[in-house]
Amino acid sequence: MTIDSSRRTKNFMQAVPVMVTILVILVLIYTLILYNREIESSKREFIEIGSKLTGQSANGMEMWLEDQIRMSSLIADHPVIALLCNDPTDPVARYEARIFLEGLNRRYPYYEVLPVALFTEDPLDVVSRKMTKRIDNGEFLVDSVSGNIVGEGGLELSYIKAIYEGKDYYISEIYPSINSGEPIIAISHPVRYNGQLKGAAVVAPKIEYFSSRFVEPAMYGESGYMFIIDGRGLVVSHPDSGFIMTEYEEQSHEIKDIINRILMGQTYFRDVYEDVDKSYYVKRVEHNMDNHPYEWYMVFTMNNDEIYSDADQLLQTSITLLLGGVVVIGVILYYYTRSFEDKVREIQQLELNRKLEIEVAARTSHLAEMAVRDGLTKLYNHEATYKALGVAVDGSRVSLQPISVIMLDLDHFKTLNDTYGHQFGDQVLKQTAQVIQKTVRNTDIVGRYGGEEFMVILPGAPKQSAVTTAKRIAEGLRKIKVDEEVTITASMGVAAWIGEDVDELVARVDKLLYQAKDNGRDRVESILEDT
Ligand code: GH3
Ligand code: MG
Ligand code: MG
Repeated sequence: MTIDSSRRTKNFMQAVPVMVTILVILVLIYTLILYNREIESSKREFIEIGSKLTGQSANGMEMWLEDQIRMSSLIADHPVIALLCNDPTDPVARYEARIFLEGLNRRYPYYEVLPVALFTEDPLDVVSRKMTKRIDNGEFLVDSVSGNIVGEGGLELSYIKAIYEGKDYYISEIYPSINSGEPIIAISHPVRYNGQLKGAAVVAPKIEYFSSRFVEPAMYGESGYMFIIDGRGLVVSHPDSGFIMTEYEEQSHEIKDIINRILMGQTYFRDVYEDVDKSYYVKRVEHNMDNHPYEWYMVFTMNNDEIYSDADQLLQTSITLLLGGVVVIGVILYYYTRSFEDKVREIQQLELNRKLEIEVAARTSHLAEMAVRDGLTKLYNHEATYKALGVAVDGSRVSLQPISVIMLDLDHFKTLNDTYGHQFGDQVLKQTAQVIQKTVRNTDIVGRYGGEEFMVILPGAPKQSAVTTAKRIAEGLRKIKVDEEVTITASMGVAAWIGEDVDELVARVDKLLYQAKDNGRDRVESILEDT
């Protein structure tokens, strides 16, 4: 991995969270669309179920009511009933009517009671179970429960008054039975004798029976059930019998609210009941309002939890998967980033190490240079020069090439220093070094051997060519112009190596230098005079 590719990778990794965010948003939008579609279809499904169940029950109820009307007409049209109503005090007719009604009630025990009301202009007394009872207009003349309700009733009851007023049948509101207090409904039919209205035959089935056949079976799923309310807002039928017959005024605020929405004609709505969010589907039962005082509403309800469980499941699963995905991507990214950063750090470290190594190497070589070079002239110092001479001599020992040495000392340098100052002297030393270096070959080695003393090693040079070089150096020195009045001269000794040790060679060339000094300075000596 290079720095460049690591930068590209870094850019890519910085883009990943943005891409993930965009992806998450897209998936969320898609999920919400799916969720909405699921909600809509769940709602449609609920309405379908509600409509089907309430429709079935409404049908069943209509047929059942028709049966009740038929039963009341069957009783009304029976001769023993017509005869009794025609002659209410006839004990035989009364006995036969009672036996007939009691027998019928035994056969159909879901009737609370089967009574017959009498229409009479004048009140009359009848003997029922050895007790004399006064019967006013519209009051019960006979019943199927041993004369228990004989003398009760009257025109204040809707289903008796309606018949009295000429209706061919009547279905009452739900009301509590006089006999047992159980909620019942009464269906009445006119009793005629020779075409004259004489009374009303009544069948009073228990609502519990109706509920058990038409309401309770309409349970659906876990929470779906049906109930019926009438136009008074009274719960007429309900799987939980505790609700039945409770007056609207006594209902809780919540139930009142639900009842109001039903009575207002809403066919579908959502409402909260006892902290449970529910949906309601309402079907108004069609019937002839001339023969019935109140509307009936079949209501199917179900908890929204259940209706929308698929949608909720979808949402939950999607969000869980989404969050899981984000976490997984996050973790991968975290570890990837970390390992990536480790790698980058490693590379940076390596890079740094390399730089340090180069720097150290440079510094080391600089130090090494410093160790062998003279600070002022940058020439090899005494030791390095001496060592170089040793190496050159060793080389010549093998190659048998000649090797010459020039030893140079500036003349009267002390005077120069004393006259013009030390800095001036330094300047002269520097220029001297430059002149020597310019004059000699690249392969020659120049060193500052002492204060104002220089050595030139000339590998491969015989003595004569070294002498020539020395003279050229002397010429060069003379041309140095540090000051108009000053001419730089030097005394030099030149010797060629003759196979001796380095020390001996140096001693010899030194001697030649002193010989040059003794012989008047500013000269080159190469032949040793005998002393
Ligand atoms: P001679 O002709 O006999 O060689 O006389 P000289 O004065 O050159 O010789 P001497 O050895 O008496 O003096 C050498 C002088 O060189 C002494 C010292 O002050 C001077 N010198 C040595 N090194 C340096 C240096 O680095 N800079 C300067 N300016 N002077 C130096
Ligand atoms: Mg000297
Ligand atoms: Mg000198």
